[in-house]
Amino acid sequence: MTIPSNSDVLAGLLRSVFGFARFRVGQEAVCRAAIKGRDLLLVMPTGAGKSLCYQLPAIARGGTALVISPLIALMEDQAAKLAALGLRVARIHSGLERGVARQACADYLNGSLQFLFIAPERLRVPGFAQMLAKRKLALIAIDEAHCISQWGHDFRPDYRMLGQYLPGLRAGADAAPVLALTATATPTVQADILAQLGMVEPVKFIHGFRRENLAIEVVEVPVPERAGAIARLLAEPGRRPAIVYATSRKNAERLAEELSDTAWGRRIAAAAYHAGLDAETRERVQTGFQAGELEVVVATIAFGMGIDKADIRTVIHAGLPATLEGYYQEIGRAGRDGGMSRTYLMHSYADQRTHDFFLNRDYPPVGQLMEVFKALREEAQPVEELRVGSRLGEEEFDKALEKLEIHGGARMDFGSPRRVTVGGTGWKKTYAVQAQYRAEQFEKVLRFTTQNECRMAALVRHFGDVEDASRPCGVCDVCDPAGAVLRLFRRAAAAERELARAIVEELRGVAYKAAGTLQRSLGGAARMSRGEFDGLLGAMAQAGLIEMEEAEYEKDGEVRRFRKVRLTDAGREMRAGNPVELLISDGIVEEFSGRVEAAGRAKKGKAAAGKEATKPGLAGAGKAGTAKAETAAAARLPAEGEALAARIREWRGAEAKRLRVPAYVVMHDRTVTALAQTRPRSPKELLAIDGIGPAKVEKFGEAILGLCAGGPGEGMQGWP
Ligand code: ADP
Ligand code: MG
Repeated sequence: MTIPSNSDVLAGLLRSVFGFARFRVGQEAVCRAAIKGRDLLLVMPTGAGKSLCYQLPAIARGGTALVISPLIALMEDQAAKLAALGLRVARIHSGLERGVARQACADYLNGSLQFLFIAPERLRVPGFAQMLAKRKLALIAIDEAHCISQWGHDFRPDYRMLGQYLPGLRAGADAAPVLALTATATPTVQADILAQLGMVEPVKFIHGFRRENLAIEVVEVPVPERAGAIARLLAEPGRRPAIVYATSRKNAERLAEELSDTAWGRRIAAAAYHAGLDAETRERVQTGFQAGELEVVVATIAFGMGIDKADIRTVIHAGLPATLEGYYQEIGRAGRDGGMSRTYLMHSYADQRTHDFFLNRDYPPVGQLMEVFKALREEAQPVEELRVGSRLGEEEFDKALEKLEIHGGARMDFGSPRRVTVGGTGWKKTYAVQAQYRAEQFEKVLRFTTQNECRMAALVRHFGDVEDASRPCGVCDVCDPAGAVLRLFRRAAAAERELARAIVEELRGVAYKAAGTLQRSLGGAARMSRGEFDGLLGAMAQAGLIEMEEAEYEKDGEVRRFRKVRLTDAGREMRAGNPVELLISDGIVEEFSGRVEAAGRAKKGKAAAGKEATKPGLAGAGKAGTAKAETAAAARLPAEGEALAARIREWRGAEAKRLRVPAYVVMHDRTVTALAQTRPRSPKELLAIDGIGPAKVEKFGEAILGLCAGGPGEGMQGWP
């Protein structure tokens, strides 16, 4: 193969084939290495332009590029884009008719394809790898390569198999290089990818993690207040389109419901998206969001891998994510058009408990795996039979079997029904290691929330780009407290300013002190909670008086973490009498606080006397409420009303069952009471009832009015 690789030739291809004027940062170097035939690992953030880094070299090298991709949506998207450029592309996946796959193979064999997209499991189809090996490939690109690593957050067992097929596909001289591409790979994952794919003298390209147009806020919000804060944030049209990540399917549904029915009187077109919805619904949500009909998607992590929406302005995490990799990928979906976007991570102590629960569910105790393992035999048994015979619940059984398969304790075939045979005994060890790794990853998330370091810098460092981690972003809540939207900072009180001075004196003349030691050595600080003291230190760091650094030491074989606190030059220069201006973290901005039910009602004056909020225009401003009928949950109803309430409750039960949601998601008790009291006769009267917004009127209006009128169809006034 004669391979063009001088700059003019590459720039020419970039223009003529892809229509781009210039390479983005990093792209050209990667293309060059690939064209030369080097194996490489490319780690660049989502949206940075990784695809071009295999596509252009593929064309330069000539022949067919094999692209392995984990998701049908991704494959379809990329294939369509290449075809639109006039390139010859085919894809093979389970969503296509047999004939399409046959044609793709024929085209491949006669050499007329430039790109062939396949899912990894395709290689397991007998004869398929052999068919591919009949021709020499230009290169092999493995997209979303982090899926290969069991440390990665999207681990796909089928990706693990790739390593064994690659040698057969790249035999002979000038063999096809293997290009592994991902947006998310910590150093551990990077090493795992290289090893699993058996890369030969690989080059690593890792850069571009910094996103200049993402302003990150990390805010402590009590769980019951999160829905309200989200609804109020997103009520502002400029903050949409938005993705909200919920911690469970149930929460996603509830939140979507609350958003589309927000008490602010403004309906937000929101929908839930999670793996428990049927394919049709998910498709509808995805395309609706893409097309702009839906402005907010409340999702579990299942959402987003295939999303290519450029103008997402806000990403909110309604709870702590399990890993920083997942978190970064999720917030990275905001602002791909380059426009400024904000992301909010809400957390509180309660998240830790939730996470322990999920960890236990996703990584069940070894005993449960053992239970399933013991039932496996050398001869294949149908999975269904084992499931029925197991003492474990259905979900527990499936989870245990899935883990066994991943760790080699069980082998599944692809027959129908699926059958399983016993595997090796090594699973116990690797499983334990993985569960431990997961727990540590979550600890990193926790530390991220408590650090007083620039958010972007902390993330960039986490991804292994140490060089780029020293520059603060200037726009996150740590860099720019006054610019924070949700997180509230107040000016330090006199006593706190006093304490700050004492801290400076305490640090004078020593290299550093551990935060804990420092607090104990100060009389006044000893009375503060750990969190309050951290808040003060954070404010001092923000003001440039001190620097903090995470450190660790080992004691009795255990790693212990602590924070080093030291004076900066500015801190050293501070003398008695100098004014100190400190901004201390203080929960969330009044405008966004309170439970969702309380929206529109008079506020309880949370901004206590003495608090000088940095957003004086907002604090205590209160929103003009929509005219909602006052309702009292405990109100007594006359007998007639009781009968109506009972009928509504009965209807509500049936509706909840049909929608598979808890009854209160359909309607709260106090809304039922209010309906029975006021007996609304038109959609307009319905809307005046607390707990009923436009979405509910649209969905249930007819039924409710029917019930209130004493039977379906009677007494409907003003119904369109
Ligand atoms: P990634 O895979 O890294 O998430 P993609 O490869 O999908 O990102 O690219 C993101 C977007 O950037 C695509 O729309 C792509 O066309 C565009 N893009 C890539 N390289 C360039 C370039 N050199 N100039 C302009 N646009 C580019
Ligand atoms: Mg990509």
